[in-house]
Amino acid sequence: MHPISPISKINIDGREFFIKRDETIDPYLSGNKYRKLYTLLQTPKENFTTIISYGGTQSNAMLALAAICKSKAWEFIYYTKKISPIIKAQEYGNYYESCSLGMQTIEIEYDLYKEYISGLRLGLDEKTLLIDQGGADVMAKEGLRVLADELREQFKDEKFLGIKAVATPSGTGTTALYLALTLPEYIVYTTPCIGSVTYLREQMQALHSIPKNLIILEPKRKYHFAKLYDEFFEMYKKVKEAGVEFDLLYAPSMWLSLLENTKESVVYIHSGGLSGNRSMLARYKRKR
Ligand SMILES: *Cc1c(COP(=O)(O)O)cnc(C)c1O
Repeated sequence: MHPISPISKINIDGREFFIKRDETIDPYLSGNKYRKLYTLLQTPKENFTTIISYGGTQSNAMLALAAICKSKAWEFIYYTKKISPIIKAQEYGNYYESCSLGMQTIEIEYDLYKEYISGLRLGLDEKTLLIDQGGADVMAKEGLRVLADELREQFKDEKFLGIKAVATPSGTGTTALYLALTLPEYIVYTTPCIGSVTYLREQMQALHSIPKNLIILEPKRKYHFAKLYDEFFEMYKKVKEAGVEFDLLYAPSMWLSLLENTKESVVYIHSGGLSGNRSMLARYKRKR
């Protein structure tokens, strides 16, 4: 059992926000990856010998899986497109850390990737588990239920009396969806950081129908995932100066949407991802 992560208060643009500090849970297995992979973390070692997954080489889900597999002595095989020489040479970042934790990577040619990945689930033995990209799996629900229970307990404190909404950014939407389903008495705000609102809704609906308390805020302009934007960097700095560091891929867009579209006091569920900041900050520095 991990200790219950605390809730801190910060001020941004004269508004009060609370932050559920899930990024403090563990350096590798932090934020929503801890929540989404909670069930796997509770799984006895003996159940599996091998975990297979796939996706990008800077992925936070990849690092979280590498950490779990190391702790369980499971083999971790990760399929990805050709890895860039820059990433291979870096001695920091999610790819480097995951390799140090024992991850084995298999690089697939760009043209064959899609077909190869859809073939992965065929013919797996019962000791091998395939986890879809980003941990988008129904098994994530239990970990989000644990988070919802934790929040409900913490919200009994009178300083949270006026709280009616929480917020967390979306990639696959797995976190926001299951949080909304397990915390129906609160509004859950999210925003798509990968693709459009339509794409996010499709991803969510593949897991479960979208409940009424889940509100998807549309970004003011179209952002491409992992691209550099001045307003993202400014937002990152502003929140960091207010007292809490967030990631540079998801959080800036969520904060921009919240400041733009909401007026009430909101509890932001920190989704982690700080392990990627060193390489993102280096990219921003090069751009300047
Ligand atoms: C993975 C991730 C997300 C997106 O989570 P989903 O459940 O895929 O929507 C958001 N923020 C951070 C920092 C992440 O690592």
